[in-house]
Amino acid sequence: MKIFRTNRDIRDHLKALNINPSGFVPTMGALHNGHISLVEKAMTECPVVTVSIFVNPTQFNDKEDLKNYPRTETDDLNLLSGVLRNNDAVFIPTAEEIYPEEDKRIFDFGNLASVMEGRYRPGHFNGVAQVVSRLFDIIRPDIACFGQKDLQQLIIIRELVRQTGNKVRIIACPIVRENDGLAMSSRNRLLDPMLRKNAGIIYTTISEASNMAGKAGINEIKAFVQDRINSTDGFILDYFEIVDGISLQPVEHDNNFSHDNQYFCCIAVKAGSIRLIDNIEISLV
Ligand code: AMP
Repeated sequence: MKIFRTNRDIRDHLKALNINPSGFVPTMGALHNGHISLVEKAMTECPVVTVSIFVNPTQFNDKEDLKNYPRTETDDLNLLSGVLRNNDAVFIPTAEEIYPEEDKRIFDFGNLASVMEGRYRPGHFNGVAQVVSRLFDIIRPDIACFGQKDLQQLIIIRELVRQTGNKVRIIACPIVRENDGLAMSSRNRLLDPMLRKNAGIIYTTISEASNMAGKAGINEIKAFVQDRINSTDGFILDYFEIVDGISLQPVEHDNNFSHDNQYFCCIAVKAGSIRLIDNIEISLV
């Protein structure tokens, strides 16, 4: 694999290769097997793949979160070197490289960005759209892989691509979990050991909630989730919603499930000071 730190160098590399389709996996580093599953998917689709590692300041509404976000470049490069091929690239730009001047663009994703993460993290998706559109301009991929772990982000990226008329194909990749069901996340390493030991409760709770959907009422399911999470020491529920998989709008009424649609249970939990998100698709029977 080759490592590049400037826009010009990664562009020159991709231009000189002139191979397509060209695949792209944007990450913020602190890589784990969830990220690697995206990289492997991109590699099966594309003869050349670029993985970016960039902790994007504009998507952090909480300065402490940005400061504490894990940065493990040496480990990340070791992990990637065992997976990537000769011509594949790792792009590790500085903030100046991505934002030579302040990015003042304001995106409008309507109601997609006003619920869940958008409500709890104001400005987050605008920052995500800024960095992803910048990275797409630099890498110019034919295919880009995103994880379903960040369901709302995935849907907003699809909307960004639609709005900008970019021809890139977005591939959604399934959530990779630890043995106890905890969705892999760069933030998991920040959990203190007691919280990590109990963090499987997030997945078991949304699994049970998804089985209740269509049978129990929405309020009953929400009360069940809130009780389960908040009665686990150190865990506090930020939100739990059952949402339509296209509009991301919450299902408010008990009988509003259509067998033609996909629905997801989405959750955000504070485990100590660390915020974790997860989701699961509901299979209506
Ligand atoms: P991040 O480094 O957290 O910005 O994530 C980079 C990409 O990896 C995003 O598309 C995430 O959705 C995806 N991702 C993160 N965790 C997982 C996971 N456990 N399973 C699958 N994809 C993931």
